[in-house]
Amino acid sequence: MAEDHATTRNFTDVYVCQKCNATNRSASGMPAKCRKCQSKRFRLKKKKKKTAA
Ligand SMILES: [Zn+2]
Repeated sequence: MAEDHATTRNFTDVYVCQKCNATNRSASGMPAKCRKCQSKRFRLKKKKKKTAA
């Protein structure tokens, strides 16, 4: 089912590198290092697209 695929995707965490702003996906926890600059500093990306207004 397509819906199952979407659910799996939503569980995948996306981290943004604080050095080069590259997005790094990780199934669980933080990535070991940035795929672009090998930095280990990340922040969790917010996935909400709806705005409060
Ligand atoms: Zn980076």
